[in-house]
Amino acid sequence: STALNELELPEVVPELPENIVEIVASMHDVVATRLAHPRRFRASQLKALERMLDAHEQDFTDALADDLGKGTVEAKLTEIDMVRAEIDHAQLHLSEWMESKAVKIPLALHPAAAKIEPQPLGVVLVIGAWNYPLQLILAPLVASIAAGNVTVLKPSELAPATSAVLGRLIPKFLDHRACAVVQGGASTSKHLLEQHFDHIFFTGGERVGKIVARAAAEHLTPVTLELGGKSPALVMDGSSATVARRLAFGKFMNSGQTCVAPDYVLAVGDAARDLEKQLAKAITGFYGKNPLSSRDYGRIVNTAHFDRLVSYLDHGEILIGGGYDADTLKIEPTVMANVDPDSPLMREEIFGPILPIIAVESFDAAVRFINARPNPLVAYLFSENPRLQSAFGDQVRAGAIVHNAPNVHLFVPGLPFGGVGASGMGAYHGRHGFERLSQMRAVMGKTTVVDTLKALYPPYTWAKSKL
Ligand code: NAD
Repeated sequence: STALNELELPEVVPELPENIVEIVASMHDVVATRLAHPRRFRASQLKALERMLDAHEQDFTDALADDLGKGTVEAKLTEIDMVRAEIDHAQLHLSEWMESKAVKIPLALHPAAAKIEPQPLGVVLVIGAWNYPLQLILAPLVASIAAGNVTVLKPSELAPATSAVLGRLIPKFLDHRACAVVQGGASTSKHLLEQHFDHIFFTGGERVGKIVARAAAEHLTPVTLELGGKSPALVMDGSSATVARRLAFGKFMNSGQTCVAPDYVLAVGDAARDLEKQLAKAITGFYGKNPLSSRDYGRIVNTAHFDRLVSYLDHGEILIGGGYDADTLKIEPTVMANVDPDSPLMREEIFGPILPIIAVESFDAAVRFINARPNPLVAYLFSENPRLQSAFGDQVRAGAIVHNAPNVHLFVPGLPFGGVGASGMGAYHGRHGFERLSQMRAVMGKTTVVDTLKALYPPYTWAKSKL
């Protein structure tokens, strides 16, 4: 079977917009006019984005239902309201973020003034993934607008309904000179990547992440790579109903197609046995006896991913679920044990509703298991023990360390969201997004009225070296 990173899908939208070169060129012209720089313009665009979400919430929830079978409430919570929260936060803090900050000057250089002054980067390209097709385009856009950039958005072709709504509504609400939507698949994306941008903000898998980084290197363009990986959840001795509900919530949201979802569980001691019972209850509590017909349970994005996931069911023992329906592309919330560590199920990010539980002897053995693999986007620890919580943070390298609550850290706009190592580079959300898409420029000035630098000029003497 094919692993997530090896899956090359046929193009759904093969057309190549002829005008990509012109669109990007006109964006660079706009940068030269400084149209998007003033605070007032940035605020107006954030407001416009908010108005678009308010006026067309239904269009967005319909599109997300079309693309992924996302329930209305889940779509609102995890996509639309998440973007709203980012907009609110940016509106509240925009003036403060844009302020320059004075910096202390060493005595020898007095009198002088020095400050750090955030500057827009220019033209930002945002390439999105299909699993949160709205959020992963609009949250980076909030950061880009707040930082005073102009933006080209390339939504995922694998969420065509959401891509189409964005393509239709963005030009209606936002200033078309400062934001363009280019729709299409890999060839459109490649064509875009041949152009010169001032930053490329990419969300997706490792395979394409490397393509993006290589293309960016050609223009020495900085990149943010928001990638995925196998985020582990370490569950210590015994396991409560709450732990099981939290795991089920994090894993089966969006049918497991969430970059921060717990990929697999490492269960210490009795935890594995307790979890099996409690997870079964949690799943029935969330989705009823027949999850495949629950309106709160979404589908797999397409047949290729569905087939990939179904093939994983052969790589271990199925404890819960395991059923699927090829017509609706739904796979039951599934829990597995005794999984083959060399199968794609354990080698690659699962990105679907299959949760392997791996029994481990101890906390230390679990940490060794995690550290033997590429750095994940998040490492979850389920334990109330502060000593273990701090040891986990000390010993595990991941984009984020989260105790006892999957998926929620990305709803805190004050926290940087991003990976490390194989899970990506750079972070955003709130101020972190603003700074990521700004140049934090150094500005320094002295007067020439009195020459206070004299002490530094040649000819050099020992006295001057002591300054
Ligand atoms: P993907 O890498 O296949 O595609 C992402 C984007 O790249 C799409 O817009 C696509 O059109 C474009 N693309 C595809 N092939 C390309 C090519 N050859 N050249 C240039 N561009 C190309 O990712 P995906 O399948 O959409 O998303 C799944 C992955 O994204 C998972 O690994 C998941 O963990 C990760 N993800 C990460 C985050 C995060 O915030 N860190 C969020 C969601 C998803």
